[in-house]
Amino acid sequence: MIRKMRSKPKELELLGCLDSRSELMDKDAQSYLNSLQGFDGECEFDKLLSEALDGKCSIVLNDLLLEHNGTMFQIDSLVITPQKIIVFEVKNYKGDFYAQGEQWFSKSGTEIKNPLHQLRRCEAMLRQLLQSLRINLLIESHLIFINPEFYLYQAPIDPPIVFYPQISRYLKQLNNGLIGNVISAKQEKLASKLLSLHIEESPFTRLPDYEYSEVRKGILCPECHNGLTAFPRLKLLCEKCGHVERIDAGIIRSVREFQILFPKRKITTNSIFEWCDVVESKLTIRRVLQKEMKQQGQGQHCYYI
Ligand SMILES: [Zn+2]
Repeated sequence: MIRKMRSKPKELELLGCLDSRSELMDKDAQSYLNSLQGFDGECEFDKLLSEALDGKCSIVLNDLLLEHNGTMFQIDSLVITPQKIIVFEVKNYKGDFYAQGEQWFSKSGTEIKNPLHQLRRCEAMLRQLLQSLRINLLIESHLIFINPEFYLYQAPIDPPIVFYPQISRYLKQLNNGLIGNVISAKQEKLASKLLSLHIEESPFTRLPDYEYSEVRKGILCPECHNGLTAFPRLKLLCEKCGHVERIDAGIIRSVREFQILFPKRKITTNSIFEWCDVVESKLTIRRVLQKEMKQQGQGQHCYYI
């Protein structure tokens, strides 16, 4: 059973909005693409895991941020079974890499962080945390390479690594080993304990600086991020890819982006009229806001939440 689903980190949502509405600096754009690729890989693994595991024999907690003795550690996926806890670190690397002992390099020779070190650190931190809670359970950890286009030359013959072609076989074996077991109150309690310790907001999130005046206004195409233009009968058209949608849908999406980018700015008919840019009438904006959001205050001072 999945007890904690993965949701898109706020940081990724914000960088996505910013990427389509401004020019991200090269390093920010690269870090956004890396994070997005990592997130996609994790979601892909969530899907495989939920399809492979019998929900009665295991509890899955995705994306946990925990802390022990002042040190934080993040777990991509954690599976609690009656016999053990399994920690998964998922990497969505693409391309050719090689390992030289404990050091890993991209094919061009640039050294990258050895993900096995991260996995071992995470396992050690979790072990210490569980010990402090007086929970004695075997911990097993695995590094999953989810991308079929990843290749590691001179890979260590190390059981913790599961490469893409091995994933389905590995998950099948894992599930076969669990059949006949049933999750007990003890494991349920452990899952609730770990969930209660999960830290919602990562303090490591670093976001680029941006101002309202620098960010492109308008309603952007959900397919290609081109600015949409008004089209008859309350519709919007993308002149680049041909996408057509109802104006209401475009306004709602833009309000959401406005909230993500500028959480401190009030949502009013005027602010959204300016933000959406292409809507001809303020009355349309007001109608959509009244329908979709909750009005606070009256008259000139009214805003929406
Ligand atoms: Zn488009």
